[in-house]
Amino acid sequence: MTLEQFRNKPAWEVYEAALLDRGFAPYWDPDAESNIVGITCCRCRGVPSYVGMTDGTTSLGFLACRPECGEWIGFPAPAPSRLP
Ligand SMILES: [Zn+2]
Repeated sequence: MTLEQFRNKPAWEVYEAALLDRGFAPYWDPDAESNIVGITCCRCRGVPSYVGMTDGTTSLGFLACRPECGEWIGFPAPAPSRLP
């Protein structure tokens, strides 16, 4: 990741709001949650929260740290086993 990319990375709250605007909805996936046990934030060593987002066809997974830290990463998530 370059410094330029990092500087342009939106705050998690902003990105999350943009996803919601695009029709994505959060979902809970215990399997994905269990896969990230032990992962810590590269910046503050805190434990990030797993957030799944899906629009029904595309599923995205995110690890979002505390708002005070603001670090987050996104990755393609496995399809949720069931939607609410
Ligand atoms: Zn952090």
